[in-house]
Amino acid sequence: MSSGHALANDPAMQEECNPFLSMARGFNTAADHLELDEGLRDVLRSPDRELKVSLPVRMDDGRVKVFTGYRVQHNTLRGPCKGGIRFAPDVNLDEVRALAAWMTWKCSVVNLPFGGGKGGVICDPRTMSKGELERLTRAYTIAIMDILGPDRDVPAPDMNTNEQTMAWIMDTYSMHARRTTTAIVTGKPLSIGGSQGRREATGRGVMISANQALKIVGLRPEDTRVVVQGSGNVGGIGALLMHQEGYRITSLSDMYGCIYNENGLDVPAVMLHLKETGRLEGYAEAEHIESSTQLELDCDVLVPAATENQITSRNADRIQAKLIVEGANGPTTAVASKMLEDRGVVIVPDILANAGGVTVSYFEWVQDRMGYFWTQEIVNSRLEQIMVQAFDEVAETAKRYQVGLRTAAYILAIDRVATVYRMRGLFS
Ligand code: NAD
Repeated sequence: MSSGHALANDPAMQEECNPFLSMARGFNTAADHLELDEGLRDVLRSPDRELKVSLPVRMDDGRVKVFTGYRVQHNTLRGPCKGGIRFAPDVNLDEVRALAAWMTWKCSVVNLPFGGGKGGVICDPRTMSKGELERLTRAYTIAIMDILGPDRDVPAPDMNTNEQTMAWIMDTYSMHARRTTTAIVTGKPLSIGGSQGRREATGRGVMISANQALKIVGLRPEDTRVVVQGSGNVGGIGALLMHQEGYRITSLSDMYGCIYNENGLDVPAVMLHLKETGRLEGYAEAEHIESSTQLELDCDVLVPAATENQITSRNADRIQAKLIVEGANGPTTAVASKMLEDRGVVIVPDILANAGGVTVSYFEWVQDRMGYFWTQEIVNSRLEQIMVQAFDEVAETAKRYQVGLRTAAYILAIDRVATVYRMRGLFS
């Protein structure tokens, strides 16, 4: 079910799927548990800064087209803003604002010295040439440059942006600053200051979260059937790493279709097929099933790792998994999350489960600033240490407050930011 389909002509569903309202619900529930006063709630809810920019770009046919971009800096109490930039036709300020706030809470859950930010440009990258995308990226970087900086705001890739986009941003910033400034973005190619293990980091974090959560539901990887929605950076790599760990991955999907094999997919072979053909379609050793039924398959663990609003009040009752590990940002609406938790389904929330990416982004920023680079083994072992500790702290908070893992993650994150606010006081 695409979010567009779910939203069509249904005001109640539109409200349920509004990312800012979802974020606000999570925030308010946690703030109630923490008994935060109204003033402090207002401080933590309000984005520090929202920038909207117009980006004139010369297209390949000689015309000039003006694009709109945003950068929202939600909170800098714990350090510079950190958060991706997405290129998509339907990006809007509400979405960027919600994602920026989620980044504040995500960085805080894993205890990184960062606040949250997010950026977006309204465009359809599928219809643009590489040259047009480069000019758009450079125009966007120049337009938001006054609020960027290794100590201010450090972007990263998100939907439809990648290592190449980060290289263009790094170059544009560096040419204006008149010195090479690698720590201005993360998710860069290795050759210009990227980190070992960054590409696999989010998927690895999903696997580490699943390993920890299995202890709660009393399963071992080798007895666990997993359905993964999405086969990209998070879903594909997450599935591969979980397969290597002994999990039985029974289903994978992409935006074109879905494959299923009850005995377990040969994930490396599926990934090879995907690399060669660009889609799962045509993979021989599996049944091809309707994508709309994938999330409802009989399985132990569900990993939604494609896009937001996939589990809503419309399909929550039909989900059979005992455990959901959220690889994507916002894949489960707040309403659906409550329906599932009421039935005893354990949900490892996005701000914990997919925090592996921002954690290794933090490592990349640290390495760039030191000018000293770590081995993949060091990166992976430090990532594991941070993810396991964060998971344990969230689980412990859940026990203390008698709440689910999502509310617990918000409580832990908001409490950390609130503590810094109280220590620093109000500057005026
Ligand atoms: P990606 O573009 O690499 O992969 C997305 C995958 O989802 C593709 O396989 C695509 O075909 C598939 N897909 C899209 N719509 C689908 C649908 N309706 N049904 C089934 N499959 C669908 O993106 P990604 O980097 O893997 O990001 C996925 C999610 O994870 C996003 O919500 C993103 O914000 C979140 N996330 C990514 C990272 C990261 O480091 N890449 C970190 C944290 C969170």
